Amino acid sequence: MNFTTPPRPFDVTALFPQLAPLARTATRLHPRPGSPTVHESSVGGPLLWPADEPWPYCDRPHDSRAEPPVVHTPDDVRLLRRDRAAAAERRRLDPEAPQWAPEERATWERLANRPWFDGPIALLPVAQLYARDVPFPRPPGADLLQVLWCPFDHETAHPRTALFWRSSATVTDVLDARPEPPVVQRDCYLPEPCLFSPERVTEYPDPLELDEELQDQLEDESRWESIDPALYSAYADDPGELYLNNLSTAPGWKTGGWTRWSLTDPRPRPCPECETEQVPLLTLASSEWDGGSGTWIAEEDPADLSPPPLGARDGRFTLIDIVGGYNLQLHVCPADPSHPHIELVQ
Ligand SMILES: [Zn+2]
Ligand SMILES: [Zn+2]
Repeated sequence: MNFTTPPRPFDVTALFPQLAPLARTATRLHPRPGSPTVHESSVGGPLLWPADEPWPYCDRPHDSRAEPPVVHTPDDVRLLRRDRAAAAERRRLDPEAPQWAPEERATWERLANRPWFDGPIALLPVAQLYARDVPFPRPPGADLLQVLWCPFDHETAHPRTALFWRSSATVTDVLDARPEPPVVQRDCYLPEPCLFSPERVTEYPDPLELDEELQDQLEDESRWESIDPALYSAYADDPGELYLNNLSTAPGWKTGGWTRWSLTDPRPRPCPECETEQVPLLTLASSEWDGGSGTWIAEEDPADLSPPPLGARDGRFTLIDIVGGYNLQLHVCPADPSHPHIELVQ
């Protein structure tokens, strides 16, 4: 399936020519539930992993006193999601049907008491990107990026990611049975397998990354007078919000583009190894859009998404959630992408 982001309401560089040289291409990934193979770019799908390479484990401490105390096995989560989807379908066919069937309720209660696990945790596949599908900065010779994470909160209250770069041609003998973590700390740390439909879009910086003169111009309503308010009626009184939500950065899963700032003001992201400023590599998003980013909803997405497939609301297709609806933005060193990456929650 192809997804088409509607054209931006107007060409912002016509109003602010200084923005033109700051245009960057981002590739929206549009993840949707599917059954990926090792040879496809995916979320939560099987990886093209060499049979003779040890699977990575996390041996850092995991705090059993942290909230929430309930952990699930990956199979528990799959069962819960299947039940949720069945319940949603039942209610769609018959709005008077009970929200949960007795056997679903019994399953939920049985699954609520898994014991905590102390010990090394097998990492989970989160994303696999082939360069032929999706452009991204990469070390020479690599055409495949694999992102795994430990499905527990670490110092930063979100899963800790690990990146692996490969040349896919060198992987001839593929691992067919990978270890799974015995438990995950939150159900939203188990990605729902999804396939991508990449689409290139143009992005401009967050307003706070622009120089002060340009920031002032963006806030100056008289500069926007030539634009028909009908094109942006929701934000007609606030040019700053109009630019931020509709004209700067795209929501959702993507590679490249500009960093999306929301929890903090922009700050430097020096490479831990060589101090070169790191650039956006891959955004793992909690949702494909939110209340403020409605103009980015693809034309192919139904306006009314109820009943949600697999509980997907507001473009929540991967069923990943980062700290209550935020994005985990992986940044990479442009001088050498094999340098340690930076994780940024925004
Ligand atoms: Zn861990
Ligand atoms: Zn570096």
